[in-house]
Amino acid sequence: MKMHPWLRDDLRDFAGYQPVPRTAGRGYTALLDANELPWPRGLCGQLNRYPAPQPQALRSRLARLYGVEPQQLLVTRGSDEAIDLLVRAFCRPGVDAVTGCPPSFAMYEVAARLHGAPWIAVARCGRRMNIDPSAIVAASRNRARLVFVCSPNNPTGGMVAATVIGRLAEALQHQALLVVDEAYIEFADRPGATALLDRHPNLVVLRTLSKAWGLAGSRIGAVLAQPGVIAALRTVQSPYPLAAPATEAALQVVSKAGEVAMLGHVREIVRLRNALRLRLACLPGVIEVMDSEANFLCVRFADAARTERRLNRAGIAVRTLQDQPGLLNALRISIGTVSEMARLVSILEKDEGRKA
Ligand code: PMP
Repeated sequence: MKMHPWLRDDLRDFAGYQPVPRTAGRGYTALLDANELPWPRGLCGQLNRYPAPQPQALRSRLARLYGVEPQQLLVTRGSDEAIDLLVRAFCRPGVDAVTGCPPSFAMYEVAARLHGAPWIAVARCGRRMNIDPSAIVAASRNRARLVFVCSPNNPTGGMVAATVIGRLAEALQHQALLVVDEAYIEFADRPGATALLDRHPNLVVLRTLSKAWGLAGSRIGAVLAQPGVIAALRTVQSPYPLAAPATEAALQVVSKAGEVAMLGHVREIVRLRNALRLRLACLPGVIEVMDSEANFLCVRFADAARTERRLNRAGIAVRTLQDQPGLLNALRISIGTVSEMARLVSILEKDEGRKA
């Protein structure tokens, strides 16, 4: 496998930890190579054995789902692990920077800081909190190896058009990998950036089973990229990152029937999101409900702290965005069930009644 040329030079002759090479079908009759206990514990399959580093069945299933070849895909312990692997593989601490566009998902900056990679913040701009592609390119020049763009963006909900992603990838082609985090793409009514992968070798797309597929507890994500990027990430991944029960759950859920169920959930969430948006927009304490193509709404309130306290007292948890630039008085509200949405609205309406 040809390694990506941007893998840190200090890792070029480093193969990473070599797990036991138990290729399926080799016909071993005694597994005495990994210091495991020989007896299964009768919990769930063969939990006395280490799992495959990249379970073939899941890798092929996800590759088919996302429309790429298996060698263009790495299964990860959620996209959180994918973000961390990218930073560790491609950024020399103290030298190669990571660019992100706040307000956005916090893990890009967390991963960069933990690794000692300089962090470049290029703020989103305007009422819709769009990214600013020319500012991203200018700030990243001669410094950044990774540029993270979240689309739809957590926590604002807006999406970056595929044409913009394509142009940005081109502008960064000699400089950095453009990582498009599509954790929420199933809730959007436009396709994501996967179709651009063959045209832009520096493009990386992150997907996850944590959102629309309802498997946050299993911690399964995927990196889609050219094979050299995947090979580079494998050298920094831990030996057995995927717990066998998590892989089993993913294989059960990502099936033909599972996909039908997922699409049904997405339709319901989108319907509830659009209905909630209309209801909230009528409340006097609500300043703005941002357009969202995800399973949450970002809402600016006249007094977000007060609203959050009231919701918390009623047992409803929402996400404060106080620490995010430009979102001081905003809350992020995930779309839940019909009855949870009704409870939320009734508290907010009562709040308005009390103030009037
Ligand atoms: N990316 C974004 C944009 C997210 O919002 C989240 C989780 N909130 C993640 C990645 C991490 O997802 P995972 O559960 O796959 O690690």
